[in-house]
Amino acid sequence: MDNELKARFSSIVGERYAHSTADEIEPFITDTRGRYAAPSPLALRPGTVDEISQILKLATETGTPVIPQGGNTGLVGGGLPLVNGAGNEIMVSLGRMNKILDVDRDSNTITVESGSILENIQNAADDADRLFPLSLGSQGTCQIGGNIGSNAGGTGVLAYGNTRDLVMGLEAVLPTSEVWNGLSRLRKDNTGYDLKNLFIGAEGTLGIVTKATLKLFPKPRGRELAYVSLKSPDAALELLNRAKGSAGNGLTAFELMASIAMEFTLKHAQNAIRRPIQDTSPWYVLLEISSGRSSQEARATLEDILGDAFESGIIDDATIAESLEQQRMFWTLREDMSWAQKPEGASIKHDISVPVGSVPDFIKEADAAVLKIVPDARIVNFGHLGDGNLHYNISQPVGWDAEDYFSYEEQVHEAVYEVVGKCKGSISAEHGVGQMKRDKIAALKDPTALQIMRTIKASLDPAGIMNPGKVI
Ligand code: ZN
Repeated sequence: MDNELKARFSSIVGERYAHSTADEIEPFITDTRGRYAAPSPLALRPGTVDEISQILKLATETGTPVIPQGGNTGLVGGGLPLVNGAGNEIMVSLGRMNKILDVDRDSNTITVESGSILENIQNAADDADRLFPLSLGSQGTCQIGGNIGSNAGGTGVLAYGNTRDLVMGLEAVLPTSEVWNGLSRLRKDNTGYDLKNLFIGAEGTLGIVTKATLKLFPKPRGRELAYVSLKSPDAALELLNRAKGSAGNGLTAFELMASIAMEFTLKHAQNAIRRPIQDTSPWYVLLEISSGRSSQEARATLEDILGDAFESGIIDDATIAESLEQQRMFWTLREDMSWAQKPEGASIKHDISVPVGSVPDFIKEADAAVLKIVPDARIVNFGHLGDGNLHYNISQPVGWDAEDYFSYEEQVHEAVYEVVGKCKGSISAEHGVGQMKRDKIAALKDPTALQIMRTIKASLDPAGIMNPGKVI
């Protein structure tokens, strides 16, 4: 990129918010796992919608590729320059546009700028005695614009849906610079295509989301959390069905964790964490029941579910968190699973979903397929059983060289995705496509669906400047 063009882009946001030295650019092009390293000539931090519109206008005129970026916590390289790309993509970071604009208690909505950090939105809702239920490990850093772009999931999906279900309206800047104001608070609106859904899960390939109106919910008055040990995914599925039957919408989380995932977390824990149940079992479940009335009601429902499951021999043991602090510790055990694999060496990761009832079959077949390729691989399986979504990760055999292990990566992916296909599942459940899975999507998705996606992309982004090489 020549200096004159750099200067034209920079002058839109002002020198203070335009970064072009290697040191300044580093944080915008580095991911937490260190798997994507590619250069960018310029990072811009606009402060207004109008500045974004000017940036995209100039980008379309000059054919300059643009990568929108939120908190840079993504796992599929969706908000980073393409590895082995042209090296001319400019970064547009939304972090300065982080205002909570409005909380409407009657409509149960909150309207925010897209650079708002997820946790700040949760807190603003809480201050208004409401719940914004999107909840994930990176919530202290990730931004709502990135959550929208990747249609993020997390632990609240079972009761409240994923990001797509929580968005009521959006404002977005098109690649050709027009600003679309779709900040609706309407619960009902039958006036044609649902345009907001084009931008949700699009990973910044169709424009830049600048504001969002999101759904709020009544705050539960009681939340009770149990840590359960059991023998198999089949037993966990049976427990899930019974919990749904007893609690209905009061079942607000149901997380499945393999024993080895729990052992990794306990072994590498940085905080004081204790084993909630002394006897070990092959599988564990975190089960949360919420009540709109009281914690007593939530507790009684939870005790009924567990007592009944214990008598029927479905579970080995269970313990209910006795304080908020203990609840936080149980959640830490689950949330720390992501990073606790790191000290165990290289990991081949999957974020898959299958119909909920197919989860036990998926696990049996995928385990067999993986162990056929790398017999001593350690399958670190955990995830949101209630949504049929597993983080099916496979750590290297003890004592192996990481590079040797990664030489099996494609083979392992293929074997796992074959079982996903057999179960009529998806190879990206909640992390997105990014640059990691783009070619795989092209091979696996319905050809007509891909054709519709390409038509939409070409009509909204005629110069092909928005996050090229991602998704499609
Ligand atoms: Zn997850």
